[in-house]
Amino acid sequence: MTPVIRTVLGDVDPASLGPTDYHEHLFQRTPLLPGDDLDDARASGAEAALLHAAGAAAIVDATPIGLGRRPAETAAISQATGLTVVHVTGVHRGAHYPADFPLLSAPVDELVERFASDLLHGMDSTQVRAGVVKVGVSLWEFTDFERRALQAAGSLGARWGVPLMVHLESGSAAHEVLDVLAAAGCPPERVALAHADRNPDPHLHGELASRGAYLGYDGAARHQRWPDSVLIDCLRAVVDAGHVDRLLLGGDVARRRRYVSYGGMPGLAYLFDRFLPRVRAAVGDLATDRILIDNPSHWLRWEPPMTNGS
Ligand SMILES: [Zn+2]
Repeated sequence: MTPVIRTVLGDVDPASLGPTDYHEHLFQRTPLLPGDDLDDARASGAEAALLHAAGAAAIVDATPIGLGRRPAETAAISQATGLTVVHVTGVHRGAHYPADFPLLSAPVDELVERFASDLLHGMDSTQVRAGVVKVGVSLWEFTDFERRALQAAGSLGARWGVPLMVHLESGSAAHEVLDVLAAAGCPPERVALAHADRNPDPHLHGELASRGAYLGYDGAARHQRWPDSVLIDCLRAVVDAGHVDRLLLGGDVARRRRYVSYGGMPGLAYLFDRFLPRVRAAVGDLATDRILIDNPSHWLRWEPPMTNGS
């Protein structure tokens, strides 16, 4: 078996991936972001085209089960724009779901089965397959549901080496997430810690990178919290400490009011148009290309078991 990256249009050679934005959303609907639904296929397609034109060859769509993902339309957008899309399965942190969401009470085995079905057969009654398992945790807290989801993701990471993405609330509890996954048999090298940069602490990032985890930087253009310069300084410190191979870049714009094609700004292209030149200036072209091209290619590759039709 040779490792592949499982995209919404089928499996591809990891070497062919190209510059990758490791965290965006083409479609999303959550009670936590009222009025900010991403639900218009034409507008989402136009935004994908803008990101592609800005230099992204690929994205990971990080909308998990139950939050308005649209696998068939996502595949159609990928086909039309030429933007490679790797889609997640999995579940977000509990606060995104109504109390009657069926998976909230599902045992670990049932979560494993559900995620595996999305990876091997297709999402939401389509034949569009997921290529990453995403789960989420609360601020310095794992609810019972979130702990079961982490264990389910970890067991799939252990079984097939499938790439995992974990939503950290404000960057908290990263070591503890890796501990739960390791107890399930999943090595940190399979794990991208999303929103690590919401806690822009270079020492902590060095520790997490030393364990082998990927650090997801996806908080640019959020100066209400801190300016982009804080993220650039943190990223440079992590590179200087020898961890260039553990960094991933994304936008996680995620809100209708931030998408140019929905009438907002700054849009998904901000990452490539505004942020990336500053990364290049800070760490150089070689390091930037490793972060943008080589690291996602390594994180996203795995060896799916054979199924009928693959
Ligand atoms: Zn996101």
